[in-house]
Amino acid sequence: MRRCISCRAILDRESLLRLTNDHQKGILINSGIGRSAYICKTKSCAGDSKIKKKLQKALKRSIDTTFYKIFEMEIENYN
Ligand SMILES: [Zn+2]
Repeated sequence: MRRCISCRAILDRESLLRLTNDHQKGILINSGIGRSAYICKTKSCAGDSKIKKKLQKALKRSIDTTFYKIFEMEIENYN
């Protein structure tokens, strides 16, 4: 069970998007090894206007524009 960094609900891994600060490859979605943050696969959590800040805090690193674009594409299909 993992906690969503946006709404703080505790859910199983299947319901959550995993973002990992991989030591070699930077931030990865649903892969990589390292510090991870979890977000509900919903527009209200993943599309939260404060999500970038919350992610930076959770992963302890800055979120670059390139990654953020990939993230926005990923969450585009969420309800
Ligand atoms: Zn959530």
